[in-house]
This record gives sequence, structure tokens and C-alpha cells, in this order.
Amino acid sequence: MSNIIMAVACHPDDIEFGMAGTLLRFQEKGWEVHYMNIANGSLGTEKYDHDTIVRMRREEAMNACATAGFHYHESICEDLEVFYNPDLFGKVLSEIRDVKPSVILTHGPYDYMEDHVNAGRLAVSAAFCRGMGNAKTSRPSQKFDDPITVYHSMPHSLSDSLRRPVIPGIFVNIGPAMETKKKMLACHKSQQSWLDVSQGNNQYIQDLIDRGVYFGKMSRRYEFSEGWIRHNPLGFCPLDSNPMMDVLGPSGDAFINEEFEKTTRLD
Ligand SMILES: [Zn+2]
Repeated sequence: MSNIIMAVACHPDDIEFGMAGTLLRFQEKGWEVHYMNIANGSLGTEKYDHDTIVRMRREEAMNACATAGFHYHESICEDLEVFYNPDLFGKVLSEIRDVKPSVILTHGPYDYMEDHVNAGRLAVSAAFCRGMGNAKTSRPSQKFDDPITVYHSMPHSLSDSLRRPVIPGIFVNIGPAMETKKKMLACHKSQQSWLDVSQGNNQYIQDLIDRGVYFGKMSRRYEFSEGWIRHNPLGFCPLDSNPMMDVLGPSGDAFINEEFEKTTRLD
């Protein structure tokens, strides 16, 4: 098993809000971290033209990635054009085959936003097809059969598209990563100024803190937390594979939410 973890999120700043704390905790344990936003952030402005905002958001994401010492991967499409299609599938598959992660973090099928759901579907299917020689990639790439465990992040809305709260299956302690997580988000300056004007001073960073506190309170154990739901392992990894617990559990930095686990049992 490689000590490589890859976040495949949708828009620039989605990793910072929902995944960066956990990525940083893995990094602390010696893991190599890869960072990919599928969409380029083209619609995240009321101020700049298309090419300007795309350039700005690429630079911001690269800065955030460099702040954390993660490996950057280019975006592959426009905002609101994240569709589950062969072109994007081939591109995501090529990236995953190049990186060969043993853990993938991505959005969940329950997410409130269609772009996020589609980004998650692309990541999941690409991981599933990592070893299928006839799967179409965007460039020549080497298939591999090693296990991948997929985890889904909590939605930005904290609830699913039908308004129901999403409850994590695993809580991760992100307290020690909060300062870097905030610094990463602060790199997304175009979003900060846009949202601060419309929603009040420093709302952007405060929102990130509030989310950490929300899941921290829900965990009843940590001050700041990120939540995760482990994907069905069939076709991806052994049934009991749970590297998030293997890596972060022994130091008390992650635990399984038994309330959630109860809902997954067939018997
Ligand atoms: Zn997003």
C-alpha cells in the first residue's frame, strides 16, 4: 500500500473547507498528499471576466497547495460543466493512475450541489477502473490493481440536497491543523473579498472555523473536526480496509461514529 492520499474535489477552496485538516493530519504521519480541483472556479466572481478569474483562482489554489506542501493537479473543466462524461472520466482516471493513491477523499453522492456530486462520481468511477486495461484515459497511463479506499466529505450545506443533515461515519481531530487550514483558505483572495463584501467582514475564514466547531461539537470529543463517510469497499479494497482509522486512530485523532455504523448493517 502506498502512503499516498489524493483529494479530488470540485471547486478551488472545497478542499480547504472540508478536507484539508484531514490531509494535513495524514501528512503529519508521513503521507504524500495530492490536491486536485476538477473545476476551474470560472463562475466564482461578479467582478472579473472569465479568463481573469480562471487565472486568479488557479494561482490562489496553487498558493494554498504550496502553503501546505501538497502536490498540485490542474483543473480540467469550467464551473457548472462538471458532468459525468467520458472526457472528464478519462482525465480523472489518468491523474489517479499517475498518482496511485491508496486513499481518495472526494465529495459524497448526498452533496447539496450537483457539481460536487458529479466530481465525486468521477473520482469514484476512476478509482474503480484503475485496473481495467480497456478503460479510456486522456493520455497513455499505466493501470494498477492496488486497493484504494474512498472517503466522502461532509457537504458545505451540512445537509443533503433534500435538506436532511449528513452525519459522519468517522470524525477526525483537525485541531492541530487548523492554523494551516486557515492559511490555505486565506490564499483564495478572490473569494474572500467577494464574500466579505456580500456577507460581512472576515466571514470567509469564520465560516471555515464554524464548520470545524460544528463537527467538533457533533463528535463530542474534539474542538475542531472534519467528518467522513467511507465508501462501499466492493471493487475498491478489502471489506475491512479503513486506512483513515489505521493512520489516525491509534493516536486518538480519529474515531468511528457507531451511530452511523449501526445504519450500515444488513443483519
Ligand atoms: Zn464547491
